[in-house]
Amino acid sequence: MADDQLTPSAPAAPAVEEYRREQDERAYQTVGNPRAKRPFLCTEHVDVYYDDNHAIIDVSLEIGQNEVIALIGPSGCGKSTYLRCLNRMNDTIESARVTGEISLDGQDIYDRSMDVVALRARVGMVFQKPNPFPKSIYDNVAYGPRIHGLAANRAELDEIVHNSLERAGLLAEVKDRLDEPGTGLSGGQQQRLCIARTIAVSPKVILMDEPCSALDPIATARIEDLIDELRENYAIVIVTHSMQQAARVSQRTAYFHLGKLIEVDDTDRVFTNPQHKLTEDYITGRFG
Ligand code: ADP
Repeated sequence: MADDQLTPSAPAAPAVEEYRREQDERAYQTVGNPRAKRPFLCTEHVDVYYDDNHAIIDVSLEIGQNEVIALIGPSGCGKSTYLRCLNRMNDTIESARVTGEISLDGQDIYDRSMDVVALRARVGMVFQKPNPFPKSIYDNVAYGPRIHGLAANRAELDEIVHNSLERAGLLAEVKDRLDEPGTGLSGGQQQRLCIARTIAVSPKVILMDEPCSALDPIATARIEDLIDELRENYAIVIVTHSMQQAARVSQRTAYFHLGKLIEVDDTDRVFTNPQHKLTEDYITGRFG
């Protein structure tokens, strides 16, 4: 074989520039502590692309049991994209491509053998706008247990529905009208119904994407109290555009900027003594 076939030819100048830019882009280091005390949902070197748009850049972060972790940062920095990686909701977006490792209890959630429906029961999701099914209150909550075969008979199903509504702080308000449509409830009640629906399939984690943004202050306070109670049994990852909300409900806070995880640490520390200039600029309102 000729020598010139063994030596790769030098890349053209624009390709070198592109390569350097990519290396620089990846060279950042998250400040703080991305490790959780009792980790079970772990992301390592995760990148997400929407076609050519590099929306999440080399993010490594652990989520631990019984903690609320808030994802904050300016609009478009990748908070929702990262959240959606955690239960493969990005699979539903054709242009989205996820690389890196994401594991739940040591199991690779992007493995081919992963049952995505079962995964989404273990890693449940509550959306910005409450989205109850056009069914009765009872059937909204019973839906998941029915499709996952979690109840052997009607009595067991009743118990799951009641317990879930109780844990979501809604039972007292709806127990006499379980047959009425879920869509007839107030916005705050609908959001708690969606939380009950998520809890009904015994998840380990609840992902919340700005769950209070469509609610009034009283309904918001009710959900925030609920988040604190739910922490006893679940881990919660919450995207919020409200720094006050992040400070009120979370134990850890992760600050994203242009697709990078800039800083993550105990919430008190991030808000009182941020280590990175970008975090400081954001929380002091200079940016975002
Ligand atoms: P945030 O939640 O912080 O506002 P997003 O995760 O929504 O940020 O967006 C991060 C980047 O990904 C943005 O550049 C946004 O335009 C892009 N993006 C988000 N969702 C989609 C999508 N469904 N298709 C294409 N690009 C998207």
